[in-house]
Amino acid sequence: MPRAPALAPVEYSDVVVVGAGPGGAAAAAHLAARGREVVLLEKDRFPRDKVCGDGLTPRVIRELLDLGLVDEAHGRADGFATQRGLRIHGGRTVMELPWPQLDDWPSWGGTARRAVFDEVIARTAVRNGARLAEGVTVTGPVWRDTSATRVSGVSWRSDDGEVGEVRAPVVIAADGAGSPIAKALGSPRRTERPMAVGARAYYRSPRADDEWISSFLDLRDAGGDLLSGYGWVFPLDDGTLNVGLGLLSTSKEFRAVSYRRLLASWAGGMADEWGTTEANRVGAVRTGPIPMGFNRTPLHQRGVVFVGDAGGMVNPFNGEGISYAMEAAQLAADVVDDALTTRRTADLDRYDRELRRRIGGYYTLGRRFAELMGDPRVMHVCTTYGMPHRPLMELVLKLMAHLTDREPSDAKDVLLNTLQRLTPAA
Ligand SMILES: Cc1cc2nc3c(=O)[nH]c(=O)nc-3n(C[C@H](O)[C@H](O)[C@H](O)COP(=O)(O)OP(=O)(O)OC[C@H]3O[C@@H](n4cnc5c(N)ncnc54)[C@H](O)[C@@H]3O)c2cc1C
Repeated sequence: MPRAPALAPVEYSDVVVVGAGPGGAAAAAHLAARGREVVLLEKDRFPRDKVCGDGLTPRVIRELLDLGLVDEAHGRADGFATQRGLRIHGGRTVMELPWPQLDDWPSWGGTARRAVFDEVIARTAVRNGARLAEGVTVTGPVWRDTSATRVSGVSWRSDDGEVGEVRAPVVIAADGAGSPIAKALGSPRRTERPMAVGARAYYRSPRADDEWISSFLDLRDAGGDLLSGYGWVFPLDDGTLNVGLGLLSTSKEFRAVSYRRLLASWAGGMADEWGTTEANRVGAVRTGPIPMGFNRTPLHQRGVVFVGDAGGMVNPFNGEGISYAMEAAQLAADVVDDALTTRRTADLDRYDRELRRRIGGYYTLGRRFAELMGDPRVMHVCTTYGMPHRPLMELVLKLMAHLTDREPSDAKDVLLNTLQRLTPAA
């Protein structure tokens, strides 16, 4: 794997990608496959951890199929587990809902530790021809002129103490929720849009071979009060469970709660069923931000294209961000490739327009949903009265996991597609 010294002090490339998470690595993989010269800079070294639930919905599987990393028959690499669907726990009901059978989406999902998953995508980018430099922190944009109207690359510092620049007409900022590139551009988060904070830990468990991922809608604090968020138990390939919970910024407990303590007590409360005792915990409880509903706009600015968490692209309905980062990456590759051909920076605006056209209406709905769910009583009423009804819950799963066919063959898809089309993107 190329280390920092493999980079000359000044390199030239078609595109420089900042951050080799699923968004950056997928963008690099798609662009390199199109024959573009790509330099992919990552501040950490693989295998590297990332705080996450490690859940891969059918939307992620679609992206893996597009990259040739799995096959329709559930073929998969070591470190990946596959599941049939979602088991929802809410009120007094437990319901197993298989992933829907659709033409546009696979009907299976999976899990993989991010230390495994992210490296697989990054290696795919390298196999396609991208140059990956690990242990290289991007320190800021390089401007084409003194008025900072257009970027012409990035500067970097390696963990070996080297410094340099990669010059490129397009920068893809896939540098995560904190996005140092966005900060350098003076592009703040839109604080009126929802965020969540999540906490997760790994536990050895006899139930790690579960065929379902589980979500828990009745999340309570130590005093028994309902919280605005949900918990999850996701089985992994290595005999452990990823156990976690997330709370919405629209809730009153968002800043007040100790996430680590809450997770430890919640996991301990279900130890009989899942084996999630403190003795079975592997590693620390870790927390991370979950930026939702396009909380940084516009998504193209001055030759910089924001992908994934850097653009706040997590689904506000369910906290899923990997697929959106990878879908945006694929679109970014398409738009950047065209703009490199026309040599017009303004053509990069199509990325922002097209992404909003595809998911803008859905994210507007998602933001309304997050506002409503900020009051845990709303969640409680929904789970108490909605959970026992399977057809309703199948519809809810399709809505929350964003899984419908573009050319619908059933009434649920017609309803959900119409709702999204009629809701304006913002
Ligand atoms: C607790 C929790 C649970 C979650 N669970 C799920 C889940 O189960 N399923 C799901 O789909 N999503 C989940 N998410 C969301 C998901 O983790 C993110 O949406 C996803 O990681 C976004 O990918 P990304 O490539 O945009 O950013 P990231 O994965 O954050 O990657 C950004 C990369 O940029 C690098 N970087 C940052 N700064 C620099 C710099 N200056 N120079 C060079 N490199 C830099 C970082 O090291 C990192 O590798 C969860 C999030 C949290 C916090």
